[in-house]
Amino acid sequence: MNHVKQFGGGSSEGRAKDKALLGGKGANLAEMAALGLPVPPGFTITTEVCRHVMAHGVGNYPADLAAEVDTALAAVETLTKTTFGDAENPLLVSVRSGAPASMPGMMDTILNLGLNDTTVAALAKQTGNPRFAWDCYRRFVGMYGEVVLGVVAASEAEHEPFDVILDDVKKKYRANRDQDLTEEALRDTVALFKAKVKEVTGTAFPDDVKTQLWGAIGAVFHSWNNARADYYRKMHGIPASMGTAVNVQAMVFGNLGDDCATGVAFTRNPATGTPELYGEFLTNAQGEDVVAGIRTPEPIAELAKTQPAAHAELVRVAKLLEDHFRDMQDLEFTIQRSQLFMLQTRNGKRTGKAMVRVAVDLVAEGKLTQKEAVLRIDPAKLDEVLHPTIDPKARPPSIGKGLPASPGAAIGKVVFTAGAAEEWAGRGERVILVRTDTSPEDIHGMKAAVGILTSRGGMTSHAAVVARGMGKCCVTSCTSLRVDAPKKVAMFVGGGKELRLKEGDVLTLDGSTGEVYLGPAPLVPAQLGNELGTLMQWVDSFRTLKVRTNADTPTDARTARSFGAEGIGLCRTEHMFFEPDRILAVREMILAETEAGRRTALAKILPMQRGDFAELFRVMDGLPVTIRLLDPPLHEFLPHAQKDIDEVAADLGVQPSVIAAKVAELTEANPMLGHRGCRLAITYPEIYEIQAQAIAEAALEVTNAGGKVLPEIMIPLVMVPEELKRLRALVQTAVDKVLGGKVPYTIGTMIELPRACVVADKIAEHADFFSFGTNDLTQTTFGLSRDDAGRFLPAYVDGGVLPVDPFVALDQDGVGALIELGVRGGRATKPDLKVGICGEHGGEPSSVEFCHRAGFNYVSCSPFRVPIARVAAARAALSIEKSS
Ligand code: ADP
Ligand code: MG
Ligand code: MG
Repeated sequence: MNHVKQFGGGSSEGRAKDKALLGGKGANLAEMAALGLPVPPGFTITTEVCRHVMAHGVGNYPADLAAEVDTALAAVETLTKTTFGDAENPLLVSVRSGAPASMPGMMDTILNLGLNDTTVAALAKQTGNPRFAWDCYRRFVGMYGEVVLGVVAASEAEHEPFDVILDDVKKKYRANRDQDLTEEALRDTVALFKAKVKEVTGTAFPDDVKTQLWGAIGAVFHSWNNARADYYRKMHGIPASMGTAVNVQAMVFGNLGDDCATGVAFTRNPATGTPELYGEFLTNAQGEDVVAGIRTPEPIAELAKTQPAAHAELVRVAKLLEDHFRDMQDLEFTIQRSQLFMLQTRNGKRTGKAMVRVAVDLVAEGKLTQKEAVLRIDPAKLDEVLHPTIDPKARPPSIGKGLPASPGAAIGKVVFTAGAAEEWAGRGERVILVRTDTSPEDIHGMKAAVGILTSRGGMTSHAAVVARGMGKCCVTSCTSLRVDAPKKVAMFVGGGKELRLKEGDVLTLDGSTGEVYLGPAPLVPAQLGNELGTLMQWVDSFRTLKVRTNADTPTDARTARSFGAEGIGLCRTEHMFFEPDRILAVREMILAETEAGRRTALAKILPMQRGDFAELFRVMDGLPVTIRLLDPPLHEFLPHAQKDIDEVAADLGVQPSVIAAKVAELTEANPMLGHRGCRLAITYPEIYEIQAQAIAEAALEVTNAGGKVLPEIMIPLVMVPEELKRLRALVQTAVDKVLGGKVPYTIGTMIELPRACVVADKIAEHADFFSFGTNDLTQTTFGLSRDDAGRFLPAYVDGGVLPVDPFVALDQDGVGALIELGVRGGRATKPDLKVGICGEHGGEPSSVEFCHRAGFNYVSCSPFRVPIARVAAARAALSIEKSS
């Protein structure tokens, strides 16, 4: 068939490789069925149909779709020996969405479709369990009412209408939990749900099973374009043109009694990567209950006790699937009367820590090669592993404990709604979103928060899954917590004590232990564990690009070295100027009206700079250190507020008016394009001369003490070769006077203006190396001021005018083309010219891969991003190897 692919009964029309057409869920259901695993039969309507609907409007299907669905449905009827809508032996189905890229919880699934007043009676009779039949019915009417007919709360602050009805019914029948509802109570619920549907939509709930089926299919396609799905796609860069598939599958029942269950499992622990069947289940329940966090489920290990045969079968299937897909699997299953059925498998989402552990373990188990393991690593996700954790020696008081759903530490102010989280975060606050549980509507808020805490839901609840996907710290099922979102308060109860939390109170979450602390906790730097060490050895054996760090202080340099930095690619000397003990001398230099005056001030700065450089050389012993000479416009060093001007004037012993006049004199309309970079030294050569002398003296000092120093002096913002020619001569004279050939050194330039890229061949005549300053190069290529773009750039990115913020990921088409031109020009003059990049892009994975392809020698990034850049560099080398 064209638009519909069947699966089940030991065979399938599709396979796992058909994800683009069948969606991830459908393709893997087909694969599992083809492997002979117990999968309820069904069929998948392809993503092509979704694209057809998008092009032609809701409800406009390809002409032959209806007939194909009938044929596929007939096949399911044959396999299950049931008939859709039959008064004796009815087929019930689930209608499930499933896009090629995983979008957890974004699209809605409908269970038990095919129930009406006639078929519910048949189901009751057939199973001998009327309560069960009516439980299915009320679930179906509820889900269908919400998802297809749109009977939902008008705002976040209100309760869902069906929840309100169910709560009333529970009160009326004195039932504490859903599972305590009697058949009579459930019949009541169905009647009330249907009445609500009538009230809200003006039409009766559809009894005709075909109408139900097409309504659900339409809703799935429609939901592809809802706001939540759209937001998720934007966040993850998933194109809307991908479309979703629809899976229609025969129901199996986990809610037929105590020999039934439903659950989710990972073939390895998704938080830590430990090899163990990990997950949770609910006895006598239907699928949605587990993920929705309505009841807190039991750990999978318990299943071995209550249902040993089904558990053993699950263990077997889990191993088989993991071996088959050669990756950790995330499984959804249902046990109907002790028999296991598989409902989904996919590569499991995991934390950065688990990602590393699983990749390394799979290699040890002989399932992956080292290269494959490195290609499995998402460099950006390593960030989590490298971040600080709570200092075990100095924890504040623990006020509660939940499940460690997603590791890391988070300190932030408490908010109770997704809206508040966004609002507070928008003001620059770090917030922790505290909820009873989360739902897809909360995704915005979860993204805005630094951590998530819920009182319900397990390790596989919505909150846990989404948080792990985002790499965000999350604690779920903190059972001593009671949240009252409308009142903006929460209580921690237990131990005879109560603690009240209100909006804005500070909490610390430990996502690795599940502990919740009141107030901010001290953090300590991350340790690179054994697995990461092993992985990094492989990474380093595959990459050719060197990774350096941007570091201005010995502390940063030390951190970066411990993360594997192979030198400093950018030391910004001006950061040293801001130290309180030297800013005064810097200001004196700026205020001086003569060269002699400037030299007097510079003489005070010289020994301090020498000390800084010597310390950096010692920390980076044996590795190159690139020092950039003064770059920012001088007015950045002057005070601007009157109060500060007065203070500085007193310190310097001058009139405040003198300083105010200098500030006015130095003010520029466009400082980023103004008197800065090497332009400073064209006008005041003594600044670079003294800096060069300080570098040389430091190099000599450390060399004499037995150290190995590799200084690289870098001149910024060159636009014409003549600038570099003159300043190189100046620097060289100053350095040679001190070193007299005792320490080898190089002089290079930053390439950060479009003109420099174009005339790179001429610039290279005077440069030993190029370092692309991509922050300024992006700014000047786009004609976008980094300091002002924040006002409108988000609109460009959100609106899709720009795919990403060019200051975050290198614009390969524009800025990248200029860089390639610059590299080509430079190497035309000097074939061995060393080329690197400094600036934020040096630690961003896609930019690092670009640098590898462009033939760079090294990238330089902030210390914490060094391991990320190392992995990105290895992946770049391996992908080129793979594709050639
Ligand atoms: P999601 O994409 O949100 O995970 P699914 O389509 O996987 O949605 O459905 C959610 C849950 O519904 C499944 O994990 C499973 O427990 C249950 N479910 C779906 N289809 C069936 C079915 N045919 N029989 C029994 N349970 C089902
Ligand atoms: Mg699922
Ligand atoms: Mg710059």
